[in-house]
Amino acid sequence: MSKKDFVEKITAMEDDFAQWYTDVVKQAQLVDYGSVRGTMIIKPYGFALWENMRDELDRQIKETGHTNVYFPLFIPESLLQKEKDHVEGFAPEVAWVTHGGDEELGERICVRPTSEVLFCEYYSNNIHSYRDLPMLYNQWSNVVRWEKTTRPFLRSLEFLWQEGHTAHAAHEDAAEETERMLNVYNDVCENHLAIPMIKGYKTEKEKFAGAKYTMTIESLMHDGKALQAGTSHLFGTGFAEAFDIQYLDEDGNQQYVHQTSWGITTRLIGALIMVHGDNRGLVIPPRIAPTQVMIVPIAQHKEGVLDKAYDLRDQLAKIARVDIDASDKMPGWKFNECEMKGYPVRVEIGPKDIEKGQVVLVRRDTGEKEFVPMDQVEERLPALLEEIQQNLFDKALKHREEKTSVATNMEEFQQILDEKPGFIKAMWCGDVACEEKIKEDTMATSRCIPFEQEKVSEACVCCGKEAKEMVYWARAY
Ligand code: ZN
Repeated sequence: MSKKDFVEKITAMEDDFAQWYTDVVKQAQLVDYGSVRGTMIIKPYGFALWENMRDELDRQIKETGHTNVYFPLFIPESLLQKEKDHVEGFAPEVAWVTHGGDEELGERICVRPTSEVLFCEYYSNNIHSYRDLPMLYNQWSNVVRWEKTTRPFLRSLEFLWQEGHTAHAAHEDAAEETERMLNVYNDVCENHLAIPMIKGYKTEKEKFAGAKYTMTIESLMHDGKALQAGTSHLFGTGFAEAFDIQYLDEDGNQQYVHQTSWGITTRLIGALIMVHGDNRGLVIPPRIAPTQVMIVPIAQHKEGVLDKAYDLRDQLAKIARVDIDASDKMPGWKFNECEMKGYPVRVEIGPKDIEKGQVVLVRRDTGEKEFVPMDQVEERLPALLEEIQQNLFDKALKHREEKTSVATNMEEFQQILDEKPGFIKAMWCGDVACEEKIKEDTMATSRCIPFEQEKVSEACVCCGKEAKEMVYWARAY
Protein backbone atom coordinates (compact mmCIF):
# COMPACT_ATOMS: atom_id res chain seq x y z
CA MET A 1 0.00 0.00 0.00
CA SER A 2 1.46 3.38 -0.94
CA LYS A 3 1.59 6.29 1.44
CA LYS A 4 -1.13 8.06 -0.50
CA ASP A 5 -3.68 5.42 0.49
CA PHE A 6 -3.80 6.81 4.01
CA VAL A 7 -5.91 9.74 5.03
CA GLU A 8 -3.42 12.53 5.62
CA LYS A 9 -3.35 14.43 8.87
CA ILE A 10 -5.12 17.73 8.98
CA THR A 11 -4.04 20.86 10.82
CA ALA A 12 -5.63 21.22 14.26
CA MET A 13 -8.29 23.97 14.25
CA GLU A 14 -6.86 25.45 17.46
CA ASP A 15 -3.50 25.95 15.74
CA ASP A 16 -4.66 27.50 12.49
CA PHE A 17 -8.38 27.59 11.74
CA ALA A 18 -7.98 28.80 8.15
CA GLN A 19 -5.55 25.99 7.37
CA TRP A 20 -7.82 23.47 9.12
CA TYR A 21 -10.65 24.60 6.83
CA THR A 22 -8.53 24.28 3.70
CA ASP A 23 -7.30 20.85 4.79
CA VAL A 24 -10.83 19.57 5.47
CA VAL A 25 -12.18 20.87 2.19
CA LYS A 26 -9.39 19.08 0.37
CA GLN A 27 -9.14 15.86 2.40
CA ALA A 28 -12.90 15.30 2.48
CA GLN A 29 -12.82 15.68 -1.31
CA LEU A 30 -15.31 18.48 -1.53
CA VAL A 31 -13.53 20.68 -4.08
CA ASP A 32 -10.53 21.15 -6.31
CA TYR A 33 -9.29 24.55 -7.40
CA GLY A 34 -10.31 25.64 -10.91
CA SER A 35 -7.70 26.86 -13.40
CA VAL A 36 -8.84 30.47 -13.13
CA ARG A 37 -7.82 31.86 -9.74
CA GLY A 38 -10.73 31.89 -7.32
CA THR A 39 -12.87 29.33 -9.12
CA MET A 40 -13.65 25.88 -7.77
CA ILE A 41 -14.52 22.45 -9.04
CA ILE A 42 -17.20 21.01 -6.79
CA LYS A 43 -16.41 17.29 -6.54
CA PRO A 44 -19.04 14.54 -6.18
CA TYR A 45 -19.20 14.56 -2.37
CA GLY A 46 -19.32 18.36 -2.21
CA PHE A 47 -22.00 18.46 -4.86
CA ALA A 48 -24.05 15.74 -3.14
CA LEU A 49 -24.12 17.96 -0.04
CA TRP A 50 -25.29 20.90 -2.13
CA GLU A 51 -27.94 18.77 -3.83
CA ASN A 52 -29.44 17.76 -0.50
CA MET A 53 -29.59 21.36 0.73
CA ARG A 54 -30.93 22.47 -2.62
CA ASP A 55 -33.61 19.76 -2.77
CA GLU A 56 -34.98 20.61 0.67
CA LEU A 57 -34.96 24.33 -0.06
CA ASP A 58 -36.48 23.79 -3.50
CA ARG A 59 -39.26 21.73 -1.92
CA GLN A 60 -40.08 24.56 0.48
CA ILE A 61 -39.82 27.23 -2.23
CA LYS A 62 -42.40 25.34 -4.27
CA GLU A 63 -44.54 24.62 -1.24
CA THR A 64 -44.79 28.39 -0.65
CA GLY A 65 -46.18 28.91 -4.15
CA HIS A 66 -43.12 29.74 -6.26
CA THR A 67 -42.21 28.49 -9.74
CA ASN A 68 -38.72 27.81 -11.06
CA VAL A 69 -37.53 29.62 -14.18
CA TYR A 70 -34.22 30.21 -15.93
CA PHE A 71 -32.92 33.57 -17.14
CA PRO A 72 -29.81 34.28 -19.26
CA LEU A 73 -26.26 34.52 -17.91
CA PHE A 74 -25.68 37.83 -19.73
CA ILE A 75 -26.91 41.34 -18.99
CA PRO A 76 -26.40 44.29 -21.37
CA GLU A 77 -24.54 47.15 -19.67
CA SER A 78 -27.34 49.63 -20.36
CA LEU A 79 -29.82 47.43 -18.48
CA LEU A 80 -27.56 47.11 -15.44
CA GLN A 81 -27.26 50.94 -15.32
CA LYS A 82 -30.99 51.48 -14.90
CA GLU A 83 -31.19 51.42 -11.12
CA LYS A 84 -28.51 53.70 -9.69
CA ASP A 85 -27.91 52.21 -6.21
CA HIS A 86 -27.94 48.73 -7.62
CA VAL A 87 -25.27 49.33 -10.25
CA GLU A 88 -23.08 51.22 -7.77
CA GLY A 89 -23.30 48.29 -5.39
CA PHE A 90 -22.30 45.65 -7.89
CA ALA A 91 -20.10 47.44 -10.47
CA PRO A 92 -16.77 46.81 -8.68
CA GLU A 93 -17.31 43.03 -8.85
CA VAL A 94 -18.68 42.65 -12.35
CA ALA A 95 -16.98 40.49 -14.99
CA TRP A 96 -17.42 42.00 -18.47
CA VAL A 97 -17.64 40.36 -21.87
CA THR A 98 -16.09 42.72 -24.42
CA HIS A 99 -15.59 40.43 -27.41
CA GLY A 100 -17.67 37.88 -29.30
CA GLY A 101 -15.11 35.82 -31.14
CA ASP A 102 -12.77 38.33 -32.79
CA GLU A 103 -15.25 41.16 -32.85
CA GLU A 104 -15.41 43.84 -30.23
CA LEU A 105 -18.97 44.26 -29.02
CA GLY A 106 -20.78 47.58 -29.50
CA GLU A 107 -21.99 47.35 -25.91
CA ARG A 108 -20.25 45.53 -23.07
CA ILE A 109 -22.12 42.58 -21.63
CA CYS A 110 -22.07 41.84 -17.93
CA VAL A 111 -21.90 38.30 -16.57
CA ARG A 112 -24.70 38.26 -13.98
CA PRO A 113 -23.59 39.01 -10.41
CA THR A 114 -27.33 38.77 -9.58
CA SER A 115 -30.38 38.97 -11.84
CA GLU A 116 -32.66 41.71 -10.51
CA VAL A 117 -32.50 43.79 -13.67
CA LEU A 118 -33.31 40.85 -15.95
CA PHE A 119 -36.34 39.95 -13.89
CA CYS A 120 -37.40 43.60 -13.78
CA GLU A 121 -37.21 43.90 -17.55
CA TYR A 122 -39.24 40.72 -17.88
CA TYR A 123 -41.81 41.89 -15.34
CA SER A 124 -42.22 45.23 -17.09
CA ASN A 125 -43.08 43.34 -20.29
CA ASN A 126 -45.26 40.66 -18.71
CA ILE A 127 -47.18 42.28 -15.87
CA HIS A 128 -50.22 44.23 -17.07
CA SER A 129 -53.08 43.74 -14.68
CA TYR A 130 -53.75 42.89 -11.04
CA ARG A 131 -54.68 39.43 -12.36
CA ASP A 132 -51.01 38.83 -13.22
CA LEU A 133 -50.01 39.30 -9.58
CA PRO A 134 -48.37 38.05 -7.54
CA MET A 135 -45.61 36.77 -9.81
CA LEU A 136 -43.51 34.37 -7.76
CA TYR A 137 -40.37 33.22 -9.56
CA ASN A 138 -37.23 31.47 -8.42
CA GLN A 139 -34.13 30.53 -10.36
CA TRP A 140 -31.30 28.10 -9.57
CA SER A 141 -28.15 29.29 -11.28
CA ASN A 142 -24.53 30.34 -11.08
CA VAL A 143 -23.41 33.94 -10.64
CA VAL A 144 -20.02 35.61 -11.01
CA ARG A 145 -18.49 38.21 -8.68
CA TRP A 146 -14.89 39.19 -9.26
CA GLU A 147 -13.64 38.93 -5.69
CA LYS A 148 -10.08 39.92 -4.78
CA THR A 149 -9.53 37.30 -2.09
CA THR A 150 -11.19 33.94 -2.42
CA ARG A 151 -11.74 30.75 -0.43
CA PRO A 152 -13.61 27.61 -1.47
CA PHE A 153 -17.37 27.94 -0.82
CA LEU A 154 -16.96 31.10 1.30
CA ARG A 155 -15.91 33.49 -1.42
CA SER A 156 -15.35 32.37 -4.99
CA LEU A 157 -15.52 34.11 -8.35
CA GLU A 158 -18.37 31.88 -9.41
CA PHE A 159 -20.85 30.26 -7.08
CA LEU A 160 -24.18 28.45 -7.20
CA TRP A 161 -27.32 29.81 -5.63
CA GLN A 162 -31.01 30.35 -5.93
CA GLU A 163 -32.49 33.80 -6.36
CA GLY A 164 -36.16 34.39 -5.78
CA HIS A 165 -37.78 37.40 -7.47
CA THR A 166 -41.35 38.32 -6.78
CA ALA A 167 -43.77 41.09 -7.71
CA HIS A 168 -46.85 41.96 -5.66
CA ALA A 169 -49.79 44.33 -5.85
CA ALA A 170 -49.48 45.76 -2.35
CA HIS A 171 -46.73 46.69 0.04
CA GLU A 172 -48.09 44.35 2.74
CA ASP A 173 -47.97 41.37 0.37
CA ALA A 174 -44.33 42.06 -0.48
CA ALA A 175 -43.42 42.61 3.17
CA GLU A 176 -45.07 39.30 4.11
CA GLU A 177 -43.22 37.54 1.31
CA THR A 178 -39.88 38.94 2.48
CA GLU A 179 -40.44 37.55 5.95
CA ARG A 180 -41.93 34.27 4.71
CA MET A 181 -38.78 33.47 2.72
CA LEU A 182 -36.48 34.44 5.58
CA ASN A 183 -38.41 31.91 7.67
CA VAL A 184 -37.99 29.25 4.97
CA TYR A 185 -34.22 29.87 5.03
CA ASN A 186 -34.25 29.75 8.79
CA ASP A 187 -36.06 26.41 8.75
CA VAL A 188 -33.63 24.84 6.28
CA CYS A 189 -30.61 26.11 8.23
CA GLU A 190 -31.83 25.23 11.71
CA ASN A 191 -33.81 22.05 11.11
CA HIS A 192 -31.76 20.48 8.33
CA LEU A 193 -28.27 21.95 8.60
CA ALA A 194 -28.53 22.08 12.41
CA ILE A 195 -27.10 25.62 12.46
CA PRO A 196 -28.81 28.04 14.88
CA MET A 197 -29.60 31.45 13.39
CA ILE A 198 -30.25 34.98 14.55
CA LYS A 199 -32.93 36.73 12.53
CA GLY A 200 -32.86 40.44 12.01
CA TYR A 201 -32.53 43.44 9.72
CA LYS A 202 -29.36 44.58 8.03
CA THR A 203 -28.41 48.19 8.73
CA GLU A 204 -28.78 50.80 5.96
CA LYS A 205 -25.06 50.45 5.26
CA GLU A 206 -25.14 46.67 4.97
CA LYS A 207 -28.47 46.25 3.16
CA PHE A 208 -28.74 45.04 -0.45
CA ALA A 209 -27.97 47.69 -3.08
CA GLY A 210 -31.34 49.04 -4.18
CA ALA A 211 -33.43 47.51 -1.40
CA LYS A 212 -35.70 49.31 1.03
CA TYR A 213 -34.61 46.87 3.69
CA THR A 214 -32.82 43.54 3.97
CA MET A 215 -33.65 40.76 6.41
CA THR A 216 -30.88 38.33 7.26
CA ILE A 217 -30.11 35.17 9.18
CA GLU A 218 -26.69 35.22 10.85
CA SER A 219 -24.71 32.32 12.27
CA LEU A 220 -21.52 31.90 14.28
CA MET A 221 -18.65 29.69 13.14
CA HIS A 222 -16.41 27.63 15.40
CA ASP A 223 -13.64 30.26 15.40
CA GLY A 224 -16.02 32.98 16.59
CA LYS A 225 -16.47 34.66 13.22
CA ALA A 226 -19.95 35.27 11.88
CA LEU A 227 -21.38 34.15 8.57
CA GLN A 228 -24.43 35.56 6.81
CA ALA A 229 -26.40 32.49 5.80
CA GLY A 230 -29.25 33.98 3.79
CA THR A 231 -30.89 37.30 2.99
CA SER A 232 -34.35 38.42 1.92
CA HIS A 233 -34.89 41.91 0.50
CA LEU A 234 -37.89 44.18 0.23
CA PHE A 235 -37.56 46.52 -2.73
CA GLY A 236 -40.72 48.52 -2.38
CA THR A 237 -41.39 50.25 -5.69
CA GLY A 238 -37.81 51.44 -6.35
CA PHE A 239 -37.02 48.97 -9.11
CA ALA A 240 -40.58 49.17 -10.47
CA GLU A 241 -40.16 52.92 -10.96
CA ALA A 242 -36.74 52.52 -12.60
CA PHE A 243 -38.01 49.77 -14.92
CA ASP A 244 -41.59 51.00 -15.31
CA ILE A 245 -43.30 47.88 -13.95
CA GLN A 246 -46.94 48.92 -13.65
CA TYR A 247 -50.23 47.10 -13.45
CA LEU A 248 -53.83 48.16 -13.83
CA ASP A 249 -55.60 47.79 -10.49
CA GLU A 250 -59.23 46.77 -9.99
CA ASP A 251 -60.34 50.39 -10.21
CA GLY A 252 -58.55 50.91 -13.52
CA ASN A 253 -55.59 52.89 -12.11
CA GLN A 254 -51.95 52.30 -13.04
CA GLN A 255 -49.89 51.19 -10.01
CA TYR A 256 -46.27 50.26 -9.47
CA VAL A 257 -45.64 46.68 -8.25
CA HIS A 258 -43.92 45.97 -4.94
CA GLN A 259 -40.97 43.59 -5.29
CA THR A 260 -38.77 41.28 -3.26
CA SER A 261 -35.71 39.15 -3.88
CA TRP A 262 -34.01 36.54 -1.72
CA GLY A 263 -31.04 34.20 -2.04
CA ILE A 264 -29.00 31.40 -0.53
CA THR A 265 -25.69 30.13 -1.90
CA THR A 266 -23.06 27.37 -1.81
CA ARG A 267 -21.53 29.41 1.06
CA LEU A 268 -23.79 27.35 3.28
CA ILE A 269 -21.47 24.39 2.70
CA GLY A 270 -18.71 26.52 4.21
CA ALA A 271 -20.94 27.24 7.20
CA LEU A 272 -21.70 23.55 7.62
CA ILE A 273 -17.98 22.75 7.70
CA MET A 274 -17.10 25.53 10.14
CA VAL A 275 -19.99 24.98 12.56
CA HIS A 276 -19.91 21.20 12.96
CA GLY A 277 -16.44 20.07 11.83
CA ASP A 278 -13.70 18.94 14.22
CA ASN A 279 -10.06 17.89 14.10
CA ARG A 280 -10.94 14.59 12.49
CA GLY A 281 -12.81 16.26 9.62
CA LEU A 282 -16.39 16.95 8.63
CA VAL A 283 -19.42 16.24 10.80
CA ILE A 284 -22.54 16.19 8.64
CA PRO A 285 -26.04 16.47 10.15
CA PRO A 286 -28.03 13.31 9.29
CA ARG A 287 -30.90 15.11 7.53
CA ILE A 288 -28.67 16.42 4.77
CA ALA A 289 -25.94 13.77 4.82
CA PRO A 290 -25.56 12.13 1.39
CA THR A 291 -24.44 9.01 3.27
CA GLN A 292 -26.07 8.72 6.69
CA VAL A 293 -24.68 5.29 7.49
CA MET A 294 -21.46 3.67 6.32
CA ILE A 295 -21.10 -0.06 6.92
CA VAL A 296 -17.53 -1.22 7.49
CA PRO A 297 -17.10 -5.01 7.48
CA ILE A 298 -14.38 -6.23 9.87
CA ALA A 299 -12.20 -9.18 8.81
CA GLN A 300 -14.19 -9.25 5.62
CA HIS A 301 -12.07 -12.05 4.16
CA LYS A 302 -13.61 -14.45 6.70
CA GLU A 303 -16.44 -16.57 5.45
CA GLY A 304 -19.90 -15.07 5.70
CA VAL A 305 -18.85 -11.55 6.80
CA LEU A 306 -19.37 -9.82 3.47
CA ASP A 307 -22.64 -11.63 2.84
CA LYS A 308 -23.96 -10.52 6.22
CA ALA A 309 -22.72 -6.98 5.62
CA TYR A 310 -24.49 -6.75 2.27
CA ASP A 311 -27.66 -8.20 3.79
CA LEU A 312 -27.47 -5.52 6.46
CA ARG A 313 -27.02 -2.84 3.81
CA ASP A 314 -30.10 -4.00 1.90
CA GLN A 315 -32.09 -4.10 5.12
CA LEU A 316 -31.02 -0.61 6.23
CA ALA A 317 -31.35 0.93 2.77
CA LYS A 318 -35.11 0.96 3.34
CA ILE A 319 -34.79 3.37 6.27
CA ALA A 320 -31.61 5.41 5.66
CA ARG A 321 -29.10 6.53 3.04
CA VAL A 322 -26.63 3.72 3.56
CA ASP A 323 -23.43 2.65 1.85
CA ILE A 324 -20.87 -0.09 2.39
CA ASP A 325 -17.09 0.09 2.15
CA ALA A 326 -16.08 -3.40 1.04
CA SER A 327 -12.84 -2.21 -0.54
CA ASP A 328 -9.53 -3.91 0.32
CA LYS A 329 -8.36 -0.97 2.46
CA MET A 330 -7.52 -1.64 6.12
CA PRO A 331 -10.41 -1.06 8.58
CA GLY A 332 -8.38 1.66 10.33
CA TRP A 333 -8.12 3.53 7.07
CA LYS A 334 -11.84 3.14 6.45
CA PHE A 335 -12.62 4.47 9.95
CA ASN A 336 -10.47 7.53 9.28
CA GLU A 337 -12.21 8.13 6.01
CA CYS A 338 -15.66 7.81 7.63
CA GLU A 339 -14.60 10.44 10.13
CA MET A 340 -13.09 12.74 7.52
CA LYS A 341 -16.28 12.60 5.42
CA GLY A 342 -18.42 13.11 8.51
CA TYR A 343 -20.86 10.23 7.97
CA PRO A 344 -23.24 10.46 10.96
CA VAL A 345 -23.09 6.73 11.81
CA ARG A 346 -20.54 4.03 11.13
CA VAL A 347 -21.72 0.44 11.43
CA GLU A 348 -19.12 -2.22 12.16
CA ILE A 349 -19.85 -5.88 11.58
CA GLY A 350 -17.30 -8.68 12.01
CA PRO A 351 -17.18 -12.42 12.78
CA LYS A 352 -17.61 -11.87 16.54
CA ASP A 353 -20.59 -9.60 16.03
CA ILE A 354 -22.20 -12.11 13.69
CA GLU A 355 -21.65 -14.82 16.30
CA LYS A 356 -23.36 -12.65 18.94
CA GLY A 357 -26.09 -11.52 16.56
CA GLN A 358 -25.21 -7.83 16.93
CA VAL A 359 -23.75 -4.84 15.13
CA VAL A 360 -21.71 -1.91 16.43
CA LEU A 361 -23.03 1.61 15.81
CA VAL A 362 -20.46 4.40 16.13
CA ARG A 363 -21.63 8.03 16.29
CA ARG A 364 -19.53 10.56 14.41
CA ASP A 365 -20.56 13.49 16.63
CA THR A 366 -19.53 11.98 19.99
CA GLY A 367 -17.51 8.89 18.99
CA GLU A 368 -19.73 6.76 21.26
CA LYS A 369 -20.16 3.08 20.45
CA GLU A 370 -23.36 1.10 20.86
CA PHE A 371 -23.79 -2.66 20.54
CA VAL A 372 -27.22 -3.32 19.07
CA PRO A 373 -28.85 -6.72 18.52
CA MET A 374 -29.25 -7.35 14.80
CA ASP A 375 -33.04 -7.57 15.07
CA GLN A 376 -33.26 -4.17 16.76
CA VAL A 377 -31.04 -2.15 14.47
CA GLU A 378 -33.89 -1.12 12.18
CA GLU A 379 -35.65 0.40 15.14
CA ARG A 380 -32.57 1.95 16.76
CA LEU A 381 -30.97 3.56 13.72
CA PRO A 382 -33.60 6.21 12.83
CA ALA A 383 -33.81 7.25 16.48
CA LEU A 384 -30.03 7.51 16.67
CA LEU A 385 -29.91 9.69 13.53
CA GLU A 386 -32.46 12.03 15.10
CA GLU A 387 -30.44 12.16 18.33
CA ILE A 388 -27.34 13.14 16.37
CA GLN A 389 -29.25 15.79 14.43
CA GLN A 390 -30.53 17.32 17.67
CA ASN A 391 -27.17 17.05 19.43
CA LEU A 392 -25.43 18.94 16.62
CA PHE A 393 -27.92 21.77 16.82
CA ASP A 394 -27.73 21.91 20.62
CA LYS A 395 -23.93 21.91 20.55
CA ALA A 396 -23.81 24.71 17.99
CA LEU A 397 -26.33 26.75 19.98
CA LYS A 398 -24.38 26.28 23.20
CA HIS A 399 -21.20 27.33 21.42
CA ARG A 400 -22.87 30.45 20.07
CA GLU A 401 -24.26 31.37 23.47
CA GLU A 402 -20.86 30.90 25.08
CA LYS A 403 -19.32 33.15 22.46
CA THR A 404 -21.90 35.92 22.68
CA SER A 405 -20.91 38.86 24.87
CA VAL A 406 -22.20 42.30 25.77
CA ALA A 407 -20.14 45.47 25.29
CA THR A 408 -21.15 48.85 26.68
CA ASN A 409 -18.12 50.83 25.50
CA MET A 410 -15.38 50.49 22.88
CA GLU A 411 -12.79 49.34 25.37
CA GLU A 412 -14.93 46.35 26.27
CA PHE A 413 -15.73 45.83 22.62
CA GLN A 414 -12.07 45.55 21.67
CA GLN A 415 -11.27 43.40 24.68
CA ILE A 416 -13.96 40.87 23.72
CA LEU A 417 -12.63 40.67 20.17
CA ASP A 418 -9.11 40.03 21.50
CA GLU A 419 -10.01 37.55 24.22
CA LYS A 420 -13.27 35.86 23.34
CA PRO A 421 -14.20 36.50 19.70
CA GLY A 422 -17.82 35.89 18.79
CA PHE A 423 -21.03 37.89 18.62
CA ILE A 424 -21.03 41.16 20.51
CA LYS A 425 -24.35 42.59 21.56
CA ALA A 426 -24.10 46.36 21.86
CA MET A 427 -26.38 49.37 21.65
CA TRP A 428 -26.18 51.70 18.64
CA CYS A 429 -27.38 55.23 18.03
CA GLY A 430 -28.30 54.48 14.41
CA ASP A 431 -25.63 56.79 12.98
CA VAL A 432 -23.65 55.27 10.10
CA ALA A 433 -20.56 57.20 11.30
CA CYS A 434 -20.43 55.02 14.43
CA GLU A 435 -20.90 51.87 12.39
CA GLU A 436 -18.03 52.88 10.12
CA LYS A 437 -15.78 53.83 13.01
CA ILE A 438 -16.36 50.45 14.67
CA LYS A 439 -15.47 48.69 11.45
CA GLU A 440 -12.36 50.79 10.94
CA ASP A 441 -11.11 50.40 14.51
CA THR A 442 -11.98 46.74 15.09
CA MET A 443 -12.74 45.08 11.74
CA ALA A 444 -16.07 44.02 13.22
CA THR A 445 -19.21 44.78 11.21
CA SER A 446 -22.83 45.10 12.15
CA ARG A 447 -24.34 41.66 11.51
CA CYS A 448 -27.97 42.47 12.17
CA ILE A 449 -30.49 44.43 14.18
CA PRO A 450 -32.20 41.40 15.69
CA PHE A 451 -35.98 41.10 15.67
CA GLU A 452 -35.69 40.12 19.33
CA GLN A 453 -34.43 43.34 20.85
CA GLU A 454 -32.82 43.70 24.29
CA LYS A 455 -31.68 46.83 26.03
CA VAL A 456 -28.15 45.89 27.12
CA SER A 457 -27.24 49.48 28.07
CA GLU A 458 -28.51 53.06 27.69
CA ALA A 459 -26.03 54.58 25.27
CA CYS A 460 -24.42 53.91 21.88
CA VAL A 461 -21.35 51.71 22.37
CA CYS A 462 -19.33 54.00 20.09
CA CYS A 463 -20.36 57.64 20.64
CA GLY A 464 -22.19 57.43 23.97
CA LYS A 465 -25.26 59.23 22.64
CA GLU A 466 -28.76 57.90 23.16
CA ALA A 467 -29.12 54.41 21.69
CA LYS A 468 -31.85 53.39 19.26
CA GLU A 469 -31.29 49.67 18.84
CA MET A 470 -29.31 46.67 19.99
CA VAL A 471 -27.09 45.31 17.23
CA TYR A 472 -25.14 42.07 16.84
CA TRP A 473 -21.55 42.82 15.80
CA ALA A 474 -18.76 40.44 14.79
CA ARG A 475 -15.87 39.89 12.49
CA ALA A 476 -17.36 37.98 9.62
CA TYR A 477 -16.66 35.75 6.64
ZN1 ZN B 1 -23.23 56.30 18.03
